[in-house]
Amino acid sequence: MMPRLKLQPEARGLGMTGQRARDRLVQRLREQGIRDERVLQAIGTLPRHQFIDEALASRAYEDTALPIGLGQTISQPAVVARMTEALLEAGLPRRVLEIGTGSGYQAALLASLGIEVFTVERIEALLRDARRRFRQLGLDIRSRHDDGRLGWSEHAPFDAILVTAGGAALEPALLGQLGEGGVLVAPVGGANEQRLLRLRKGPAGIEQDDLGAVVFVPLLPGVR
Ligand code: SAH
Repeated sequence: MMPRLKLQPEARGLGMTGQRARDRLVQRLREQGIRDERVLQAIGTLPRHQFIDEALASRAYEDTALPIGLGQTISQPAVVARMTEALLEAGLPRRVLEIGTGSGYQAALLASLGIEVFTVERIEALLRDARRRFRQLGLDIRSRHDDGRLGWSEHAPFDAILVTAGGAALEPALLGQLGEGGVLVAPVGGANEQRLLRLRKGPAGIEQDDLGAVVFVPLLPGVR
């Protein structure tokens, strides 16, 4: 079921954080080749400005990554759109695990599509802010403070797993928590650039495709 988002009055207005700004962002994403109407509609509805510091709110609907504190970023909308589209291509997954909650924007986007979302973040202060945003928007998202490289075994298997921080290699624990027919999307590579990989766990083994170059903050061990 699609949740009804609780929106604040300014999100409906015409200013830098209003509906027009989101419509322009959606138009830009269309021009960049994002085709999935479910994803475009969700991005056109979710108030991205509520996921960043107020001082940056006027830039919320630019197609750019923005700092969220503690050296982390909210991902660029085009990258969020591409990852979400890749995740949905084989049909809407029912349950998704996200690694790297960050601002909570990607998790909220998935939840607004009617997906049951589980998200793991290693930095407690970021997770606290993200949880407040989920509450404000009326989104029911399960979250955990932990090293996400271990996944969330109590809730496995997942229909899809999305990693939003760049690792040197695919994490075996995450592949293990992916259900039959499940899809894993993860940036894999060095610190400066990664390849966005999509893996599908099929009956004949694992199929992999490369969705292009991306730049994510690093996937780090441990918690803080
Ligand atoms: N999906 C986020 C993007 C966040 S950036 C959003 O929509 O805003 C990546 C996040 O991954 C950062 O918050 C970082 O702290 C977190 N991260 C890095 N390594 C991690 C790990 N091992 N486990 C969980 N989270 C991790």
